[in-house]
Amino acid sequence: MNETLCTAPTCHTPVHGTYLCGDCVKVLKTDLGVALWLWDELEVTQTRQARIGKDRVGGKSSDTPLPWHESASRARDMLHNTVFTWATAVDRVADRHIEPSRVKPTLEWLISEVTAVGRLENAGRIARAFEGVTQHCLKVIDHPVDMMFAGRCTLDKNDEDGCDADLFAPLKAATVDCWQCGDQWDMESRRAQMLAMAMDWVDTAAKLEKLFLMVGHKIPAGTIRYWASEGRLLPVSILAGDQPTYAVRAVLKLKYGETAVIELAQAC
Ligand SMILES: [Zn+2]
Ligand SMILES: [Zn+2]
Repeated sequence: MNETLCTAPTCHTPVHGTYLCGDCVKVLKTDLGVALWLWDELEVTQTRQARIGKDRVGGKSSDTPLPWHESASRARDMLHNTVFTWATAVDRVADRHIEPSRVKPTLEWLISEVTAVGRLENAGRIARAFEGVTQHCLKVIDHPVDMMFAGRCTLDKNDEDGCDADLFAPLKAATVDCWQCGDQWDMESRRAQMLAMAMDWVDTAAKLEKLFLMVGHKIPAGTIRYWASEGRLLPVSILAGDQPTYAVRAVLKLKYGETAVIELAQAC
C-alpha cells in the first residue's frame, strides 16, 4: 500500500499499510473501553428512569412519555446497534465468528483486535461511529448541569426517515449540531416546538420547573405550589407520597395568559 492519510475524522497523519494512525488507534481503543463501561452504566440509568415513569399515575399524557424519559434506553439501543454493525463488518474480515448480540464480549474482542481494526478499509468510519456513540451516551448518563436535552434530531416521531439521535445542547446555545447526521438546528425554534409538544404533559411542580427550564422558561416550583395554595391552580392527580401533579398548559396560562398559551401551542 502506498503512503496514504489516516482516515479518522479530522486526522490527516500520513500512514503506511493501515487506515488509522497510531494515535487514532489509541483513541479508538479508549472509546471501545468507554463503550464497555457505558453498557452497564446505561442500564443503571435506564432502570432508575423506568421506576420514575412507573410512579406516574393519572394525567392526560401518562401513556405518552416525553422523549427525555426514553433517552437511556434509546442510547443503549444505539450503542448495541453500533457494536452489532461494526463487529459484523470486522468479523467478516477477521473470520472469527463472534456473536455481536453479546455486547460486552464483542467489545472486549474489538479492543484486543484494535490494531487489526485499524488496518481495515472502513477503520475511519468505525472510529467515527464509536466516538459519536460514546460521546452521546456519556451525556445521557452524566446529565451535565450545563447541558440540556434538546429533543431528538427529527422532532416529528412520525417521520420514519428522520434521524433519531437524541441531542444535547448548552442551556443557552443558539444552535445544536446533530452528532449522528450533522444537521444543524436553531435552538430557539426547537425549544418552542418542544414546549408545544409538551402542552398536555402533567407532572409534579419540581419536574415541571426542570421541563420549563429545558425549553427556555423560568417558572420555579415554588411559584407553581403558591398558585396551587391560592386555589388558582388545581392538581390533575396526587402521586404516592402526597405529591400533586399539574398540567403544563394550566401553569403556562397563569404565567402568560390564555392568548399567549394559544400562540405557544402553535409552534409545533
Ligand atoms: Zn489519525
Ligand atoms: Zn441527526
